[in-house]
Amino acid sequence: MRLSTYFLPTLKENPSEAQVVSHRLMLRSGMIRQTSAGIYIWLPLGLKVLRNIEQVVREEQNRAGAQELLMPTIQSAELWQESGRYDAYGKEMLRITDRHDREMLYGPTNEEMITDLFRNNLKSYKDVPKLLYHIQWKFRDEIRPRFGVMRGREFLMKDTYSFDLDEESARVSYNKMYVAYLRTFARLGLVAIPVKADTGAIGGDLSHEFQILAETGESTLYYDKAIESFELQKLTGDIDAETISSLQGIYAMEEEKHDPANCPVAAEDLRTAKGIEVGHIFYFGDKYSEAMNAQVTGPDGKLVNVEMGSYGIGVSRLVGALIEANHDENGIIWPEAVAPYKVGLINLRGKDEACTAASEALYQKLQNVGVEVLYDDREVGGGVKFANMDLIGLPWQAVIGPKGLEKGVVELKNRRTGEREELSEEELLNQLTA
Ligand code: ATP
Ligand code: MG
Repeated sequence: MRLSTYFLPTLKENPSEAQVVSHRLMLRSGMIRQTSAGIYIWLPLGLKVLRNIEQVVREEQNRAGAQELLMPTIQSAELWQESGRYDAYGKEMLRITDRHDREMLYGPTNEEMITDLFRNNLKSYKDVPKLLYHIQWKFRDEIRPRFGVMRGREFLMKDTYSFDLDEESARVSYNKMYVAYLRTFARLGLVAIPVKADTGAIGGDLSHEFQILAETGESTLYYDKAIESFELQKLTGDIDAETISSLQGIYAMEEEKHDPANCPVAAEDLRTAKGIEVGHIFYFGDKYSEAMNAQVTGPDGKLVNVEMGSYGIGVSRLVGALIEANHDENGIIWPEAVAPYKVGLINLRGKDEACTAASEALYQKLQNVGVEVLYDDREVGGGVKFANMDLIGLPWQAVIGPKGLEKGVVELKNRRTGEREELSEEELLNQLTA
């Protein structure tokens, strides 16, 4: 992509409405624009990141055996009346009436709809287990939308639903998602601590929130420092049953569930920090299947309520959370796994024919070998180009200038470390395709 034609409205100044660094940087780097409170347009650069995150999430869901479908954003109120949540959900739900005066709503979540889908189509123990998911926009009329996409009103969520014959099998589905979440966040380079969460009326221990540590987090966490030895950001390989159970045995709680008087962790081993909730997994038994009559016949011919769980990831929130975890005073520092482009190509002298010819040639070659490149071909000074590239945070910057050309080298800068190397074109291509 050429910057001269790209729709990338960057801002020099910090927008006054943004309270946290990720929101500021998303506005400044031209990733998003707000249209109403908590509702955003995703501009080309922001959308690329959103799609990259979505793809990592999708791959790990598929790997865990979940099947992707796509449910609508607009739902009928009837299903929610059946489950009893139509009134309970309150003002967070955006209620709509259609031309026939039918009550509709913009889905804040999909338990009812998927339970309805299940009961209409699957009837036997042979039809379970099933893990079904979609990645779809949700609307919640949050009382205090803030921090940009981190607490929006319209936001993109991945939500999975599990259906099992009994609790034992439901636990297996739950742990598949637990592992998928560990792997997903590790692939994004994040330390996301699985914190024990409330299971509501059902009890049991099958609910975790995945929390990224960040000063701007809305949750306060208490956890055993032993969790650090798991190196969660590295868990991208196979994760065995032993790791799961020892990880699940480690103390990690939100403030509301943490009781200092009865905490099993010695004071010197207890850590506290703020967290951003990026995922939530939850087993809730037959809460919906009982209310909505979603049953299967067991091997003995008897009807049983199907056992369910739901598993959410805040895909759009992750964009902000990733920036909270990856930035410096100059801008964003994208992890390679989600970077909108791998390398920014800077032509230091737009008016110098040799520089331009070399830049154009490298731009072509990078594309030929499949490296995603954003080429700053504008006629502005080098300082502006450097500042802009640092702001948008591509992992690498390739700089072509007259001095380097004389020596036959291109400068390659690592955005994270700031390290610069002078490389021949061939070395540079090798390094970026390694
Ligand atoms: P929170 O406590 O932050 O309001 P929640 O408990 O309401 O979250 P869930 O219903 O479990 O969230 O939704 C699944 C995931 O969707 C959350 O873990 C979070 O990452 C994301 N999410 C929830 N609400 C929002 C929002 N308003 N904006 C962006 N992402 C959200
Ligand atoms: Mg909420």
